[in-house]
Amino acid sequence: LSLAEKASLVGAFDYIVLKTLYSLRGKSEFVSFNSLRKKLDVKNDEELKISLLKLNELKLISKDPTEFSFRLTFSGLDILGIKMLYLNRILYKLAEIIGEGKESIVYHGYDFDNNRIVTKFHRVGTDSYKKIKFRKDLEKKDWLSITVENAKREFDALECIRREGGYVPKPLGVQYNAVAMEHINGKELYKKADTVNLKEILEKILETMRIAYNICNITHGDLSPYNILIDESGTPFLIDWPQATDSEEILKRDLINIATFFKKHGIEVDVHKMFDYVRGV
Ligand code: ATP
Ligand code: MN
Ligand code: MN
Ligand code: MN
Repeated sequence: LSLAEKASLVGAFDYIVLKTLYSLRGKSEFVSFNSLRKKLDVKNDEELKISLLKLNELKLISKDPTEFSFRLTFSGLDILGIKMLYLNRILYKLAEIIGEGKESIVYHGYDFDNNRIVTKFHRVGTDSYKKIKFRKDLEKKDWLSITVENAKREFDALECIRREGGYVPKPLGVQYNAVAMEHINGKELYKKADTVNLKEILEKILETMRIAYNICNITHGDLSPYNILIDESGTPFLIDWPQATDSEEILKRDLINIATFFKKHGIEVDVHKMFDYVRGV
């Protein structure tokens, strides 16, 4: 079943069960049937059991192998995001998958006026989780919270940069791990290098990085010709901002990545000048 099909099978009570599992996250990985029924204040255990069975079958939750305890899966979290984006009249319906990255699944979809939009569902993979697990500030956090924070961080980055005139997709909303944004009708820069005005594109990329760094206190952290989309008018859009942090070291690495690509395509670049421009010195 597709995510959209699963969403349509989730009834009002199932949805409340998912929401409650989310709200009880963190204390331990799995939530016991008992704490679930207490929190939900259900009169009839059967109704809850049936819902849990169904959600488990849809793989929106998973059961502890030994106890009668449950936790949300990534798909379960996706469903919460979809429902809330729908209730906020941002996402009318999901369509096909555009891309499955290391830390997300990206879907096409439609808003309530039938415009094409994009929804990115964040997922903290086991690899990236292992990496951050050792950071002190994140030590006590569960993967659901980390994933939701990543989505919020990407939305906030898009919102600030866009508001200040940078070239990023217009953010439309964020709910749980789901970030809805404008759909850019185009292709990644690495596929378009021979048919576009590279000088103009480089200027817009640097302008966007300057706004991000100076005004929004954000560095991209994974900037490359794969994370820059070129639309039909030849305008670049910088995407994929979840790892955004504020670091000069990372900024330099991003700039070197970009400079290498443009040099390879015959554009003269001076990394030091770029670095000074973006930092505003
Ligand atoms: P990665 O593996 O590169 O870290 P990711 O999981 O972080 O990927 P993104 O790079 O944000 O995800 O998006 C994955 C792909 O989805 C992009 O390479 C792009 O092709 C497509 N995409 C993302 N956002 C948009 C958008 N706003 N409009 C059109 N296509 C998009
Ligand atoms: Mn597309
Ligand atoms: Mn990417
Ligand atoms: Mn990414």
